[in-house]
Amino acid sequence: MECIKVKTSDAKEVRWQCTAGPISSQTPSSTSIMQITKSPPSTLRRLRQFALQMVDELLPSACTLCGSKSHDALCNRCCKQYADGYAARCTCCAIRLPDFSQSPVCGSCLVRPPAFDFTFVASDYAPPIDRLLQALKFHAKLPLAKAFGRLLSELPAPPRTADLIIAVPLSLDRLAERGFNQSLEIARALAQHSKLPLATNICLRVKHTQTQASLPMHQRRVNMRNAFAVQNSQLIVGKRILLVDDVMTTGHTLNELADCLKRHGAAHVTNFVVARTPIR
Ligand SMILES: [Zn+2]
Ligand SMILES: [Zn+2]
Repeated sequence: MECIKVKTSDAKEVRWQCTAGPISSQTPSSTSIMQITKSPPSTLRRLRQFALQMVDELLPSACTLCGSKSHDALCNRCCKQYADGYAARCTCCAIRLPDFSQSPVCGSCLVRPPAFDFTFVASDYAPPIDRLLQALKFHAKLPLAKAFGRLLSELPAPPRTADLIIAVPLSLDRLAERGFNQSLEIARALAQHSKLPLATNICLRVKHTQTQASLPMHQRRVNMRNAFAVQNSQLIVGKRILLVDDVMTTGHTLNELADCLKRHGAAHVTNFVVARTPIR
């Protein structure tokens, strides 16, 4: 399959084009989600999501947390107050470390290095960020995805050195049920802020896994095994990938996906995650 970079007719947008159709874009449209699906979510659900999004777009902008006037769903003051991108964390898995004086890599990553190389997170999965992530995921508060994408773009490790952004994909069933992929929406905003291309149909979730949170810790790795597949792998050979997810708990999901990407030739994988559970 041949893939080339092409410009759209108005020359404002650069797309990757291959024989199977467009696969990524610097300014992707909502239809890009459909490129990885074989059957679309129900029309009613999509209309509902669209209506919710329009209502959010049309309402006067105010910070979701403090209510102050803001162009974003989170004002700068709240971002500074609740995001702790500068905290001492393991450079590999982003678990909190007591302080910066210790080894930059935690004992667990030293003993059993994950497939990904680095992880950067904006916050612990704790109030009020956890509430906001739930509002995005379960109540389609999509403007929050934009705010989280901006937050990730402002982390102390800006994604300048990455070649490509990929969001952790949902299974077709989960996508049909929810109507959108919250990680993809966050990745979209990050791509806009960082000016990096977002690839929307390289990774597929081929296994409908149980929700990780519903399983005991020891079953989560098994649950994620062979959950992902890569298509158009020529686009990731030798590339530095930036993986985006909303929440990281044990890291098994990101580890499985990073492993899959590297088996298909990716050179380097860095996770950008909104919130990390403090305990693994
Ligand atoms: Zn605020
Ligand atoms: Zn670690």
